[in-house]
Amino acid sequence: MKIDLSGKTALVTGSTAGIGHAIARGLAAAGADVVINGRTKAKVDAAVVSIVRAVANAKVRGVAADVSTAAGCEALIAALPQADILINNAGIFEPKPFADIPDEDWSRFFETNVMSGVRLSRAYLPDMLKRNWGRIVFISSESALNIPTEMIHYGTTKTAQLAVSRGLAEMTRGTAVTVNSVLPGPTMSEGVEVFVKDLAKANGLSVEEAASNFVKTFRPTSLLQRFASVEEVANMVVYVASKEASATNGAALRVEGGIVQTIA
Ligand code: NAD
Repeated sequence: MKIDLSGKTALVTGSTAGIGHAIARGLAAAGADVVINGRTKAKVDAAVVSIVRAVANAKVRGVAADVSTAAGCEALIAALPQADILINNAGIFEPKPFADIPDEDWSRFFETNVMSGVRLSRAYLPDMLKRNWGRIVFISSESALNIPTEMIHYGTTKTAQLAVSRGLAEMTRGTAVTVNSVLPGPTMSEGVEVFVKDLAKANGLSVEEAASNFVKTFRPTSLLQRFASVEEVANMVVYVASKEASATNGAALRVEGGIVQTIA
């Protein structure tokens, strides 16, 4: 199977770093016209340069916009009125005991992790349906199914994404548009690296030891027994975004190394 996305425009939110950046690179390598997004112009520009360097003949540009706000989404939609592929990747996480999570954090997590995808899907999906081709992918998490006690607010937003994704898929009946979600497990993105480095420092461990301890202690059911790489997650997303994935719709696809101990 050779994935060819030439002629398709793909927007990847939160793609200046981490999983989103790897997805953007993978889509560019498959020939898509990729639009990078992040909050600052400097980081967006740097991400565009890094993909141009990594991928021969990459067609990539950037739009700086904060997708956690309605105004930010509006600015992004104004800069890119039409997209064939929308990857709702931007997301935040922060371990915090339930009793210490204030309303503001709950709202911020919901706006960033859920409403960004809601607002962008509301803008792009009707046109995809009209043109009878499109792909929307929500980057949820294994934490949508196994709600982590150390960040219940995060898990809640990731479950909400599954609901939005499945609901939108119902609107695509009989068309060539698909809406799916992808559930990564612990993945060594830039954001997670900061978290693991802090853990290593606090416990006097190397980063590798801290990463391995994290999986063994907090995700003991992992079959992978390590963090996934951002590319391992991106590979699944590029496939779901491809023309070849035409019969996969309304699904919650796991790339979490087998942490979730159920068959379906
Ligand atoms: P990361 O922190 O490494 O990168 C996130 C990217 O999103 C950065 O480029 C950041 O600048 C951008 N971003 C954040 N808020 C934004 C906003 N309001 N507007 C625009 N851009 C914004 O994160 P990551 O680990 O790559 O996570 C990406 C997605 O994958 C998230 O939705 C996360 O919940 C999900 N996920 C990650 C893991 C993991 O272990 N890394 C596991 C499961 C799910």
